[in-house]
Amino acid sequence: MTGTTLFDLLERFSSLSRIWFRQHPLLAEMQPIQLSALMYLARCNHYSNTPLGVTDYLGLTKGTVSQSLKALEAKELIVKVQDARDKRSVHLQLTDAARSLLEALLPPAFLAEGEARMGARGAQLETLLGELLCEVQRSADVPSFGLCRSCRFHQQVDDLPFCGLTQEPLAPSDAKLICREHQAPEVAA
Ligand code: SF4
Repeated sequence: MTGTTLFDLLERFSSLSRIWFRQHPLLAEMQPIQLSALMYLARCNHYSNTPLGVTDYLGLTKGTVSQSLKALEAKELIVKVQDARDKRSVHLQLTDAARSLLEALLPPAFLAEGEARMGARGAQLETLLGELLCEVQRSADVPSFGLCRSCRFHQQVDDLPFCGLTQEPLAPSDAKLICREHQAPEVAA
């Protein structure tokens, strides 16, 4: 398969997702960027749930993201919580309403049903796409936003996850979240 064909396929899936979300009755009042911000906040850890984290992840301007976050706050889908140690920093937390909304939406039914019809090959495809993403993240000069458990700083201390970068203990559930500080392990030469 050539790179161009793979790109075409990914672009088609992206387009199908946009259409599916646009037509979903639960999203009649929501802009795509607002939904993207909610999905990011549901997947990221406590080092990454800041306005800057959302901006970097979505690759949009600060002004655009700021407007979207204000709209989400007005809809009571996120709340701002001051950082316990740095009073200038805020964290964005999903409300119960936002979590229920995402639970009803994700994964998109068209994709989940297609993957289920593929059986074991659907799971293989997911693994291969994950490997492809790691490869791209390793070589691209952008924040990888990778899974915490795959980070070179991820450690186990007293059988619990621990961040070697911040020198702080992590909750077991953090291992499955994405992080803006993530760095892929060095590849042996
Ligand atoms: S181990 Fe890596 S991914 Fe996990 S919190 Fe620390 S820097 Fe982030």
